[in-house]
Amino acid sequence: MGKMIYLDNAATTPAKPEVVEAMLPYFTENFGNPSSVYEFAAKNKAAVTHARETIAQALGTNTADVYFTAGGSEADNWAIKATAEAYREKGNHIITSKIEHHAVLHTCEYLEKRGYEVTYLDVDENGCVKLEELKKAIRPTTILITIMFANNEIGTIQPIAEIGKIAKEHGILFHTDAVQAFGQLAINVEELNIDMLSASGHKLNGPKGIGFLYIRKGLKLRSFVHGGAQERHRRAGTENVPGIVGFGKAVELAMASLEERQKKETETRNYLIERVLKEVPYTRLNGDRTNRLPNNANFSFQFIEGESLLIMLDMEGICGSSGSACTSGSLDPSHVLLAIGLPHEIAHGSLRLTLSETNTIEEMDYVVEKIKEIVNKLRSMSPLYEDFIKKQEQ
Ligand SMILES: *Cc1c(COP(=O)(O)O)cnc(C)c1O
Repeated sequence: MGKMIYLDNAATTPAKPEVVEAMLPYFTENFGNPSSVYEFAAKNKAAVTHARETIAQALGTNTADVYFTAGGSEADNWAIKATAEAYREKGNHIITSKIEHHAVLHTCEYLEKRGYEVTYLDVDENGCVKLEELKKAIRPTTILITIMFANNEIGTIQPIAEIGKIAKEHGILFHTDAVQAFGQLAINVEELNIDMLSASGHKLNGPKGIGFLYIRKGLKLRSFVHGGAQERHRRAGTENVPGIVGFGKAVELAMASLEERQKKETETRNYLIERVLKEVPYTRLNGDRTNRLPNNANFSFQFIEGESLLIMLDMEGICGSSGSACTSGSLDPSHVLLAIGLPHEIAHGSLRLTLSETNTIEEMDYVVEKIKEIVNKLRSMSPLYEDFIKKQEQ
């Protein structure tokens, strides 16, 4: 099998050829600095504006409210740290969840060391934030609710409209890390009462190292990067023009194909889930069965190590992930899988497969056969499994 089957689109995606093509002239002939006054550079300024407009439209908002950053992590850092600073007089309490990306969790931990108080909400067994718990957590000093749109490991989609409503009713700002959701789900920041939203280019077939933070008009957030007057004085540094142009193109393509991709990915993904659950015993699906990102499947196979499974799948040309890319390499099981209540030993046997619209049913057949083979092999070498089977037979 010479071909690679890439099933790790939650970690990153390839840039589409149209995206690369749109970017290329901005490395060479259109190299001007958008801040320069001469006519030659105006083209670059226009290209940045065009990308901003495309993104704003995709969010159902005004052009000026989109600020480019160097990725999703920076956007998360900016939203949370700048809110904490700007609203310090009002209060020092932030509400988030236990299943956020580390860009949010570690930023909150950083603020805790600096006098802020953070509530990390539990989630239910499917990874959904409980709205009653959220309401109970609100204090007079709460300045920010930051809850991700959809989870990067288990795909669960949060009740964003309800969270937005609760935040608005209490006069609390609402930020959402939509890095996984933007480009996969329809989002309207006005309808959902979202005050700040983070997204990233490389998760939706755009380039790496470019993202944005949407900031609702009127919020008094200061610049995160101090220096020049770029991004309306809110994010200094000469614009990553090729990155911005590529991001804009990727968003345009993602929005044009949104429903078609959702349908295709959901069908292919459901086929994979159904076959795995039916054909591999002692296996569970993590995350909500239906309320999840269209491309996400996350399984736990009892009695095996997810890392071993990953390595053996890799030898068969299949790229997946155990936990998230940022957590793999460490021996701790994923904080998300622990938060949905999995015991350590089950969380350790997990596999995340995230599809794209290019994956086919034939590929899923191959993947299922390989998973069956490898899981059987690993279990046959597991003393735990041997004990379990002996007990079953008694
Ligand atoms: C990938 C990811 C990020 C980080 O985005 P970068 O552009 O890689 O910095 C943040 N949040 C979530 C949910 C992600 O999946």
